[in-house]
Amino acid sequence: MPWQVLGVNKKYSIGIDLGGTNLRAALINSQWKIKERIALATSGIREEALKQIEEVIEKLKKKEGDILGIGIGSPGNIDVAEGIIYDAPNIKGWNDVPLKSYVEGKAGLPAFIDNDANMMALAESRLGAGVGAKNIVCLTLGTGVGGALIVNGKLYHGAALTAAEIGHIPVNMNGPLCNCGGRGCLERYVGNRFIVERAVERIEREGGSLIVGLVGGDLGKVTPEIISQAALKGDKLSVEIWNEVGRYIGVAIAGLANLLNPEIVIIGGGVANADFLVFDEIKATIKKRAMRMPAKMVRVVPAKLGGDAGMIGAGILVWEKMVDRL
Ligand SMILES: [Zn+2]
Repeated sequence: MPWQVLGVNKKYSIGIDLGGTNLRAALINSQWKIKERIALATSGIREEALKQIEEVIEKLKKKEGDILGIGIGSPGNIDVAEGIIYDAPNIKGWNDVPLKSYVEGKAGLPAFIDNDANMMALAESRLGAGVGAKNIVCLTLGTGVGGALIVNGKLYHGAALTAAEIGHIPVNMNGPLCNCGGRGCLERYVGNRFIVERAVERIEREGGSLIVGLVGGDLGKVTPEIISQAALKGDKLSVEIWNEVGRYIGVAIAGLANLLNPEIVIIGGGVANADFLVFDEIKATIKKRAMRMPAKMVRVVPAKLGGDAGMIGAGILVWEKMVDRL
């Protein structure tokens, strides 16, 4: 249920979801519905990202002057208290950005900054797949693997506010090196690039996959979507690749289920139309590997709100922060 907004006569918050390739922004009302929306392509460069954020805020303010505040979901490690982005690998120069003070200075409105996966989790927990659950684990799959935790109905940020990097949970002690400095992280097995890499390696070693025909013999053209197309046509190697992705995710979730005993695990982002191959394997692995009670309790479900989740979550963040204060 949305907040009963007592004593607040503002009509909208602005929710912004900033990504390495696009930016979505909208006016979000007190019932958490979208009024106006804007979508832009982004260049992944700091100065341009700042300018675009400023522009969308101005545009939305012109549509509707009655605005409570601004919420922004950004990739990267973020000091949510100070609203400073420590670093975000997908936006050039996006480190040590005092985004909260910058936006507040430009827009003259209170601003709140948080991680994009956290914003997706907030929206899913309030309006989407997690409604009714208090303890939620969220995963977003794609180039990277993002994560968020909701504990007792609230986002869990950790001591240095960097918590829930589920993609960097080690699933193999002696596994390959990861960008984060660790070894054998979940992302190293289920990030898009690594799914493709494993498929290509296996084709080179074993041959005999439908993938070869689908890319006209050029293995440089293999994508997760191509692997899904082949899997849907019954290609054994492709089915095995997706099943393996499900097993790796399942192992990580089994650990999380034992640790946190969540009611629900929400999985968003793309598994390239191979959901059924991945989800069944995730569930089977949790059943096999997690302890009996947490395994029995946890439900694994796809995200409901799609690409709008981060933007809606950023809008909800403003309502919850501001209404809490009143
Ligand atoms: Zn890592």
